[in-house]
Amino acid sequence: MTKRSVAIFSLVSVLLLLFFWRGGGRRSPLLPEVKLVVFVVVDQFADEYLDRFDSVFTGGIRLLVDEGVVLRKVLHPHEVTATCPGHASIVTGAQPSTHGIVNNWWYDRKAKEVRYCVDDGAYSRSPDLLQVNALPDWIKDRYPRSRSYAVSGKDRSAIMMAGKEGDAALWYDKSSGMMASSRYYFRRGYPWWLSEFNKEGGAKKYFGRLWTPLVESAELFKKTGTFTFDFGDFPETFPYALGGPEPAPGPSFFADVYNSPFVDELTFNFAERLLTEFQLGNGEGIDYLALSLSALDTVGHGAGANSPKVFDVLMRIDRGLESFIALLEEKVGLDRTLIVFTSDHGIPPFPEALQHYGMSAHFGEESKTAARVSASDISCLQRAHFFGKESGQQELFEAPLYVKEEFRARDGLVTKKISDKLKGALGECAPVSAVYDSRDIEEYRFKGTRDSSSLATAKRNFFRGRSPDFSVLTKPYYSLTPGRGINHGTPYRYDAEVPVIFFGANVSRNTTLNSERRLWVTDIAGTVARLLGVSASPEAKKGLMMVSDE
Ligand SMILES: [Zn+2]
Repeated sequence: MTKRSVAIFSLVSVLLLLFFWRGGGRRSPLLPEVKLVVFVVVDQFADEYLDRFDSVFTGGIRLLVDEGVVLRKVLHPHEVTATCPGHASIVTGAQPSTHGIVNNWWYDRKAKEVRYCVDDGAYSRSPDLLQVNALPDWIKDRYPRSRSYAVSGKDRSAIMMAGKEGDAALWYDKSSGMMASSRYYFRRGYPWWLSEFNKEGGAKKYFGRLWTPLVESAELFKKTGTFTFDFGDFPETFPYALGGPEPAPGPSFFADVYNSPFVDELTFNFAERLLTEFQLGNGEGIDYLALSLSALDTVGHGAGANSPKVFDVLMRIDRGLESFIALLEEKVGLDRTLIVFTSDHGIPPFPEALQHYGMSAHFGEESKTAARVSASDISCLQRAHFFGKESGQQELFEAPLYVKEEFRARDGLVTKKISDKLKGALGECAPVSAVYDSRDIEEYRFKGTRDSSSLATAKRNFFRGRSPDFSVLTKPYYSLTPGRGINHGTPYRYDAEVPVIFFGANVSRNTTLNSERRLWVTDIAGTVARLLGVSASPEAKKGLMMVSDE
């Protein structure tokens, strides 16, 4: 070939390649039809809820389960299974070690103060501390006119789900009972549609209303392991009054609405308003709408996984989702909408429930260590705070698990002497199963690609400058909540396993699943990006495809 013909041949090859690259290849012919992506994150929806409450789900969750691709026991593979890291991992496809959201709160050594995960010096609340871009940002890179909104009962959930460049994150403000946002999204002041929505009263419209259950059925309670008596100080009997006897709605009433299913009702209503007002799913690109429903978490913490309150919250989510999906069908069409349902973390049952009902058969051998922190446990944990002999003791920490400057070596990590001392002291406390220092964590090498050992989960959670110097693992089902209540936050399966459901456009029951390896929630964002034909971040691209795009 002459030089000239080589040049022409190369040009033709490049053009042909470009043609097939854009038009053919792995992209499904259905791809252009997706106009709206909807995330429904149900805060504290443990994987086991999908089985235990199966008979309760007859609405929206039923539809997703029956018609969608259901993936079970998908893991949050990081140590601190809490709201902010959980949402950040879902939407970025990255681990806390990369996205930087190591917990809901952490200690900022430089500023010597506690940082909230959505703190922002200039705008009060924003995704400033989130270190990477998220799915809605990737969609905007590809479709600059795409709109992205996130709504939740919690500011941190909405802000994380909106990514770095979201049009707005909106949430329930506990102090005013109204939906609120940040100037980060609205530099020139709040928009009319937010004020318009709030004019309808926000939480005030529930003032004087009782929380009465949708259904009280002994048969359904039995089927779902719901107990009608209480393990704590308060009777588990409906109806509940929200707030106290004050004649006007105030902070205690607004806080009670936050701890009731009505906060989800406001979230659904607001999301429906956004959908209609902006005609999401009918724009030029692919629009994005995320809902994070908080009531299951705010109610679950106090009432427990076997409470009639949790039963009722779940039933209302199922019914609320049914109406919301009906609206999506009407306004956008389900063949043009991709719905992703998941959760930020799970929850264990009350240890008393496990002990009282001998539920260990259901929850496995590891639930035999179920207990609630005792007075002597607390005293033991507190004594570990001190260092030195009885006389002339020094305090070890400047903030819980963050050692004082003088106890850290030149490389910034805790000294061996201090580490040994703390590991010894904590090791004597009944609730503690293992203690790792930041050196153990940094020096740990992953075994294989999906290492789920506790040190591996700690390493994926570790972000220098934010994470504490120690990671303390409790025994399984050992609750550190004194008195009534329960918490999540461990890497154990009851906290870390959640369901993931894909439903709607580009997904069918026949979709082949990637079932050879254990799936992680950090696979979600990359999978959705691929289904939409948008380019994900490098870390998200490392994830597994959860459903086939063929
Ligand atoms: Zn929680």
